Amino acid sequence: MQPTRLLLISALAACTPRAAAPPIASYPVAVSTPVPSPPVVAEAPAPMPDDVRDLQRGILGGHGAVDAVASLTTEVGARLAGSPGDKLAVAWALRAMHERGLSNVHSEPVKVPVWQRGVETASIVAPVSHVLAVVALGWSGATGAKGAIADVVRFDSLDALKSADARSVAGKIVFLDVKMRVTADMPGYADAVPARSSGPGEAAKNGAIAIVVRSIGSDDTRAPHTGSMHREKDEKSALPAGALSNADADLLERVLVAHGSARVALHLEPRWLPDAESANVVGDIPGRERPGEIVLMGAHLDSWDLGEGAIDDGAGCGIVLEAGRALAALGQKPRRTVRVVLFAAEENSLSGGKEYARAHATEAQAHVATMEADSGTGRVQAVHVVGAARLPTAPPSLHALGVQMIDGPGHGGADVTPLHALGVPMVDLHQDPARYFDFHHTANDTFARIDATALTQSAAAFATMAWTIANMDGDLGRVADRDRGESN
Ligand SMILES: [Zn+2]
Repeated sequence: MQPTRLLLISALAACTPRAAAPPIASYPVAVSTPVPSPPVVAEAPAPMPDDVRDLQRGILGGHGAVDAVASLTTEVGARLAGSPGDKLAVAWALRAMHERGLSNVHSEPVKVPVWQRGVETASIVAPVSHVLAVVALGWSGATGAKGAIADVVRFDSLDALKSADARSVAGKIVFLDVKMRVTADMPGYADAVPARSSGPGEAAKNGAIAIVVRSIGSDDTRAPHTGSMHREKDEKSALPAGALSNADADLLERVLVAHGSARVALHLEPRWLPDAESANVVGDIPGRERPGEIVLMGAHLDSWDLGEGAIDDGAGCGIVLEAGRALAALGQKPRRTVRVVLFAAEENSLSGGKEYARAHATEAQAHVATMEADSGTGRVQAVHVVGAARLPTAPPSLHALGVQMIDGPGHGGADVTPLHALGVPMVDLHQDPARYFDFHHTANDTFARIDATALTQSAAAFATMAWTIANMDGDLGRVADRDRGESN
């Protein structure tokens, strides 16, 4: 489905001087974006409890999730951990939760590393000349003001780079040309991403002076995809590492095929700043019977710095804020507490997710389930319960949204993985990933990519799942020790 384009936003952004920001809960962009309610609810097979029907109607009849993304991307925009945008985002999130009627709204401090993008250019200088679209990877080292210039040595897999003769790599710029397979699910990304995270370290071991990786993304445009690389203990030892857009990686590959060699100039000048304080932002819908038991719905508040952080992860923030608003507005409170958490610094360090698990370790037993929205704007298609001893029966209220309950492996969000390591089951609400990796971590991650109808359905699915688990007689059990994985 094509993303909905909302032109009013650009008109608003152009207004100077700006009037006071409108309330987040009634962002004016909504006026221009009627969201058709999916017909599935009206035609849903009975029986669906009245409370769930009210909950879903409260979301599907409006556009609260889209409003939240519009507000976040307009009032804040890019918000890499530790940046001025990050601070604005924390204040925005506190305000957003208050406006939506959540209780116990507060921030919990998180120390975050601060890495800042600088000059970034690349070009092929021989045997032909081309400017290449490049962005530094997060944690990249700097080339220095003069840049690096060297012949390129290409590898088509991380394994090939690992097993390379160091003499063929020393003094060169490595071109790690791993093509992400385009699949209907996440594995294409998961399979390709080690090239970005581990490629720089492997190239450094073999004496390369820099590395350029093909973007880990499914598009064929000139927009490079940034993302984090493995962080060296000594930040000064990190190799200068850039991502070429897929179109430019194709070009470099063609030059190598046609001419047998290519000389590349690369100039990257990111820098490190002292650690900064950010925050996880937390708000509750208190439970009426077991307020000490928590069903956690999360998303990450930070974003990469190139775009507006709309699909990654403004969309997730919109989903869980709207689900929280609808739950708080329902006449009846859930039996257990539903908690909304907007995590800090997922992209550059997972510091927020780790700090939440550390600070709440003694309450891990009280966390009944976690779920995270961090897959963009697509509709929820299926639910997997990860690492639980018992599955809830598939409620008709999920079928009404076109969501299937699947008994099989899923994956939870990165921010809730540290809680999973403490035994808390993760519920994976799997969103349609179509086109997500076209825009992920690029300058094209903008509000124009938001699919209003799908985002609204996702909010309804998260609210329904949280409500269902919060009201269960039993619980989902605990994750067996052997299944808890790494806590990162
Ligand atoms: Zn994300």
